[in-house]
Amino acid sequence: MRKDNCIFCKIANGEIPSKTLYEDREFRVILDLAPATRGHALILPKEHADDLYDLPEDSAAKAMRLARKMGRIMEERLQCDGLNLVQNNKEAAGQTVRHFHLHLIPRYRDDGQNINWKPGKPSDEELEAVRELIAR
Ligand code: AMP
Ligand code: ZN
Repeated sequence: MRKDNCIFCKIANGEIPSKTLYEDREFRVILDLAPATRGHALILPKEHADDLYDLPEDSAAKAMRLARKMGRIMEERLQCDGLNLVQNNKEAAGQTVRHFHLHLIPRYRDDGQNINWKPGKPSDEELEAVRELIAR
C-alpha cells in the first residue's frame, strides 16, 4: 500500500522524479539530494513501511541483498574506499522521513565525514543488567 502525502511513496513509485540508480518491481534506489558523500544513495521500497519494524521480513532481506549489490557497483564505478549502511528508525534515532529507507554512503579516504558515536564506559554490572533485559 502507498500512503497519501508520503514523499518517498511518490518518489519510489515514480510520481515525483528522482535521480534513479536502480529500479525493480519492489524497490527504487535513488541519489540522496543532500548527500553526505559523492554517490550517497537511498534504497526505497515501493510499498509503504514506516520503518524497519513495519517492513515485511522478506522485504528487509531483499533490501540487504540489494545493498550488497549496489555497494559492489559503487565500489567499482566510484572507486570509493568503503561503504556505510545507515538506517534510522523513529525520530529519536534521526529518522526524518517516515518511510523505510536504507542509506548507502560511499566513503572516501579523508572525505571529512564522521558517522560515529561517543563510546560509553559501562561497568560490567551495567552491561550484565542490559544483557539480561534483552537476551533470549
Ligand atoms: P533520515 O534522516 O534517515 O530519515 O534520512 C532522510 C534522507 O532523505 C536525508 O538524507 C535527506 O537528504 C533525504 N531526502 C529527503 N528528501 C529527499 C528527496 N526528495 N530526494 C532525495 N533525498 C531526499
Ligand atoms: Zn511511503
